[in-house]
Amino acid sequence: MSTVKTTSGTNGLLQSEPLLFERSVEGRTGWRPATSGVPLADDLPEDLLRQAPMRLPELSEPEVVRHYTRLSQWNYSIDTGLYPLGSCTMKYNPRVAEDLAALDGFAQLHPWQPVETLQGALHVMAFVEDSLKALTGLHAVTLQPAAGAHGELLGLLLIRACQESRGDPRSKILVPASAHGTNPASASMAGYQAVEVPAGPDGILEVDTVARLMDDQVAGLMVTHPNTLGLYERNLSSICKVVHEAGGLVYGDGANLNALMGIVRPGDLGMDVMHFNLHKTFSTPHGGGGPGAGPVAVTQELEPFLPVPVIHRGDPLTLEWDRPNSVGRVRSFYGNFGVVLRAASYIMEMGAQGLTHASRMAILNANYLRVRLSKAFEVAFPQPCMHEVILTDRLQRAHGVQTIDIAKRLMDYGFHPPTVYFPLVVPHAMMIEPTETESLDELDAFADALIQVAREAGQQPDTLKSAPSRPSLGRLDEVGAARFPDLRYDFDSTQ
Ligand SMILES: *Cc1c(COP(=O)(O)O)cnc(C)c1O
Repeated sequence: MSTVKTTSGTNGLLQSEPLLFERSVEGRTGWRPATSGVPLADDLPEDLLRQAPMRLPELSEPEVVRHYTRLSQWNYSIDTGLYPLGSCTMKYNPRVAEDLAALDGFAQLHPWQPVETLQGALHVMAFVEDSLKALTGLHAVTLQPAAGAHGELLGLLLIRACQESRGDPRSKILVPASAHGTNPASASMAGYQAVEVPAGPDGILEVDTVARLMDDQVAGLMVTHPNTLGLYERNLSSICKVVHEAGGLVYGDGANLNALMGIVRPGDLGMDVMHFNLHKTFSTPHGGGGPGAGPVAVTQELEPFLPVPVIHRGDPLTLEWDRPNSVGRVRSFYGNFGVVLRAASYIMEMGAQGLTHASRMAILNANYLRVRLSKAFEVAFPQPCMHEVILTDRLQRAHGVQTIDIAKRLMDYGFHPPTVYFPLVVPHAMMIEPTETESLDELDAFADALIQVAREAGQQPDTLKSAPSRPSLGRLDEVGAARFPDLRYDFDSTQ
């Protein structure tokens, strides 16, 4: 990308923005408070004093404000348009949740305040725990983990602690081939060997396959429901029985709870541990790495092992630290409270009926797209889907056009591409998750654009292969960007 030094006011449109360091002009400053008259401390040891001023960029306030505002305008976000990434649940985040999270009474809390002064916050946390218990049919919840993958790690540590306490430590975890990459990674971090479980031809786990793989070294099964193909695991209760009979426990990856709320309680199916992504299902803008929250719900048998502290339901609410079987803490303080607060706001706003309606609409929207797109594209699994649907490029490949070309061309129509080439078990996948947020008009506009792109694949494949042409940057070297990221500003090469 060009790093031409320019002060042109059109930079926001050109999407070419120098770094603040490159714009810096010596002596230029922003707003400056009057000097206070308080003498500077002169008792700091000499060796702690800075010898030369820090190398900070020197700019005026409007220059800095404009720089960041321009950068923010380059971002694609759920606030700028449909964000159809499968396996991500990019839903609209109600602003009322942001208002609540910004209230002084919450925002100014300190986690080391005496617990009597934290009652409001503890009630919010207890409310979210209770809501997750009600939605899952499980017995207890911790809000500590900071993200989905962190919840997975904790869930597996709980399984380990439980089986060790039974005098039956085990070494392997079964993970379906379609699983999110975090599942085998978490299994490995928790010290288990991940063993892949293939699904049946229709993408669904089969009881016999799991039964065959269970042995006295298998700690359990890690399963996503609905699975990462967007399909309902209809054999799950029988599978849970098979796992339990062989001494194993079932870990549910609940990142896809957006399809289940008020419809199915995973605990009723036989799941023992489950994490949720508050930042997917329960509001909180996500992407870019956080913040998030990955609470974990467990059965009664696993409850003694939960991380400390847990909320003790007395009056007043207190925090309980003395739990001899606890696996210890996994996060400073009590987790990402701001995310929990947004989830509380979302759950209160929606109510039980509203959450059920959200799940039903998420499923309806995905199936609407599945049917509308099923002539233009191959649908990987033709049966009804849950909250997401997977297409492939099989019909377009005859014209030399691939998934990546379709995704890039979609940008010329003003739409963010879906998740591509994931899950890996579906070659050349395009995974679309519209969520409950989108209106029929928006879904139609998106489907129309994809159908138009499919038509172009037959008529003018070169347009697709060189797409996108409308964004200011064309096709980027994605492999290069991933393998040789250039993220460091090198002062000395420029000054
Ligand atoms: C998003 C997701 C995860 C990981 O969650 P993070 O919060 O990104 O760590 C795990 N499993 C599934 C199925 C997911 O969709």
